Amino acid sequence: MRASRVAVLSTGTELLRGRSVDTNLASIARALETIGLEVDYHATGPDDLDRLVEEIRLASARAEVVILTGGLGPTEDDFTRRAAAEAFERPLVFQPAAWNAIRSRFRRFRIPMASINRRQAFLPRAARILPNPNGSAPGFAVESAGRFFFALPGPPREMIPMLQKRVLPRLAAAFGNRARFRLWEGRVFGMPEGSVDEIVRPIVARRRGASYGLTVSGGTVNITLRVERGSPLPLVRALRRKLGLFLIGPKSLEETVGDLLLRKRQTIAIAESCTGGLISHKLTSVSGISAALLEGLVCYSNRSKTARLGVPAELIRRHGAVSPEVAAAMAEGIARTAGADAGIAVTGIAGPSGGSKKKPVGLVWHAVHYRGRTRVERRVFPGDRPAVKDRAANFALDLVRRALLKG
Ligand code: AMP
Ligand code: MG
Repeated sequence: MRASRVAVLSTGTELLRGRSVDTNLASIARALETIGLEVDYHATGPDDLDRLVEEIRLASARAEVVILTGGLGPTEDDFTRRAAAEAFERPLVFQPAAWNAIRSRFRRFRIPMASINRRQAFLPRAARILPNPNGSAPGFAVESAGRFFFALPGPPREMIPMLQKRVLPRLAAAFGNRARFRLWEGRVFGMPEGSVDEIVRPIVARRRGASYGLTVSGGTVNITLRVERGSPLPLVRALRRKLGLFLIGPKSLEETVGDLLLRKRQTIAIAESCTGGLISHKLTSVSGISAALLEGLVCYSNRSKTARLGVPAELIRRHGAVSPEVAAAMAEGIARTAGADAGIAVTGIAGPSGGSKKKPVGLVWHAVHYRGRTRVERRVFPGDRPAVKDRAANFALDLVRRALLKG
């Protein structure tokens, strides 16, 4: 049996019963990949002391690094502390620092603390505490003879920050110079997967030990590039030259647009019809966007388009609400009424009803008004109502991104 390097142990009877899905494995594997480590063994155990001891022993015998999640709560069926103590043959000892952290968290949030929470301060002897700013259960690490064991909380919103802050730096320091590969991730918007593949394949093929994978979601193609030796940067530069403006970089579309707006100190306002506020929702998920986003209106009826945005009723009567003329008037109207540097508008037919031969389901007109010019783009998106809304919102964000990069 070839030794593994990294094992992940998930714990929780609910995972084995399919009551919740093991997202921790995926988060851990993806995070480790960024520092050149690969998970090559995974097991899920129930909330049972003997079984957990067995799984920890097995994984620790196989792998240099074991990352376990779950079972750190204060109740009787949270076995991770006891199981690790037994597996490593170290007694559980009271750690005052862990106890202080638990107590002060309860005090800060003014929550009454149960006496059983004291259990969470008992850790295997010589274990290092991994502070948990997002929950009561501290994690812990046991290191000996170049082998690593990490116990992290089950809830992803506690597990992921601890992984990023406490586990990755430690492992990068320990294994960085022995990393088997380096990774680069980028996103492409507005180009079909097959065309992205035609560009990426020959570039990556030129280099030995380089490989890549593509995944698609909502009109974005994600590229994961792996090189076994040296830096991925020369390949990235070649990709950038070929993909041009289609390459949006490592961040999501909305984060990229948000960054651009903030960096260029530009303001924006949004008028949405068929996307029903989705563009605003996406942009408002970017932290700090309040410095750039002035307002987002959902102007669903013809009357609203006229009353809120000043779109002439005659224009709507002549061309219909789903038309390039109305999309342009909406973008100009929202920029003017909000006093924003840029205005985005979307009007379309999300379906499944309401389509016609001339205006089929999935037809969306997008407009961006910026620096005195209005750019209008027509697309017909496939898919059901949520898919059409999502794609239209992404397409509109991409138009803004391009306008900002050129303007
Ligand atoms: P625990 O720390 O074991 O009490 O887990 C608390 C909660 O974290 C569980 O109820 C799950 O909702 C979540 N959780 C535990 N393990 C995982 C996992 N592997 N993936 C995703 N969520 C998990
Ligand atoms: Mg559990």
